[in-house]
Amino acid sequence: MKCLECGNLFGIEPNVISCPRCGGLLEIEVKLPSTLSLNRLRGRGAWRYRDTIPARFKEIATMGEGGTPIAKSNAKP
Ligand SMILES: [Zn+2]
Repeated sequence: MKCLECGNLFGIEPNVISCPRCGGLLEIEVKLPSTLSLNRLRGRGAWRYRDTIPARFKEIATMGEGGTPIAKSNAKP
């Protein structure tokens, strides 16, 4: 995960949503496989991308929120 404030990188921890160093929000950066088919995504909302995140989540917290679109980033890794 990458901190949106200070840019530090951390491993994915399912219960950590803020940067341990500065308290900024974290985002998950993943390299999507070229074989990813949007038609094969399951579920609703951001959780339908869970198979693309290299972590295991025991529980999914959701209130049935709607679809969050996937967007291509132009950021350099
Ligand atoms: Zn930070």
